[in-house]
Amino acid sequence: MENINEIKALLAVPKDIVITTHRNPDGDAIGSSLGLKLYLESLGHTVTVAVPSESPAFLGWMPGAGDILIFDLQQDDVRKLLEKPDIVFCLDFNSLERIDKMGEIITSLKATKILIDHHLYPEPFYDFELHDVTASSTSELVFDFINFLGDKSKITKTIAECLFTGILTDTGSFKYSTSPKLFRLVADLLELGVDDVQIQNLVFNCLDEKHLRLIGLVLHDRMEVLDEFRTAIITLTKQDYERFHISRGDTEGLVNFLLQMKNVVLAVFIHEQPTITKISLRSKGDFSVQDIARKHFKGGGHKNASGGYSYIGLRPTVNKFKQILPEYQEALLNN
Ligand code: 5GP
Ligand code: MN
Repeated sequence: MENINEIKALLAVPKDIVITTHRNPDGDAIGSSLGLKLYLESLGHTVTVAVPSESPAFLGWMPGAGDILIFDLQQDDVRKLLEKPDIVFCLDFNSLERIDKMGEIITSLKATKILIDHHLYPEPFYDFELHDVTASSTSELVFDFINFLGDKSKITKTIAECLFTGILTDTGSFKYSTSPKLFRLVADLLELGVDDVQIQNLVFNCLDEKHLRLIGLVLHDRMEVLDEFRTAIITLTKQDYERFHISRGDTEGLVNFLLQMKNVVLAVFIHEQPTITKISLRSKGDFSVQDIARKHFKGGGHKNASGGYSYIGLRPTVNKFKQILPEYQEALLNN
């Protein structure tokens, strides 16, 4: 990492630090933030994690999860916190748009902004960066960050648990974005005492009956397979959310089921949120969904996992998506 000595100097005296991460934080967003928080606290800094919106219930067990400030629910507290921090760490996102109003506040701050992220095409809003699109997760990069600072020995079992959770969720249980380096790093985490089976149970085997029935219903009634495009789509309307008492976290991971079909290369989940229609895209192999998200749905992300949104409502968004598919047909069929 460039400028590591400048960062080291910056962290040599106690600072007021805010760590933030993207809206609808996932396991990597929360795991990397909490892991970094614990490390920075061990150096004597005052550290608070503040995020735009709530994190899913299945991450509630994570150490420090209860102390995270949520802008949507605690606007005054977050505004106060952001009055004059010395340093703001921006984790697991590449554009201040991804943190809504908090982004506007952070833009105008004098604080040193440090980006740690693995998404494609970061916008240059920061002073220092540890950015690597080949990293499995931001949690992997937080490990690297601590290591670059010469502090690998300060990674405790609790920090390791946070980082393991981020790696586990962002790689879909080591199914994608892995590398020899990652497995070596994970070996280090296990040597620190991480119980990988226990964390898998906490993260993945925590559904209730309602949730499993919802998955069955959605796959049966709300899935469309477009064989000629090797594409499958799931759609959920606002009415579906009400009728089936679906809450936001319940649809986490739904889109990944579609990729379990042998012929499917492109998986899409389009659903209505209170003000926007959200689109989640996943792919297999070399087919990149990042381009579709960026070009057509104001979004971005990674080659095999991206997202975006529209303001035109569910049906028009689905139609728009189907209209752009022919543009990608050749790439889909050749994948
Ligand atoms: P998900 O489909 O799980 O919401 O997001 C998948 C990936 O796409 C994540 O890495 C996320 O950061 C990225 N992503 C999701 N929604 C957006 C968006 O609206 N804008 C951008 N730039 N990236 C997004
Ligand atoms: Mn991530």
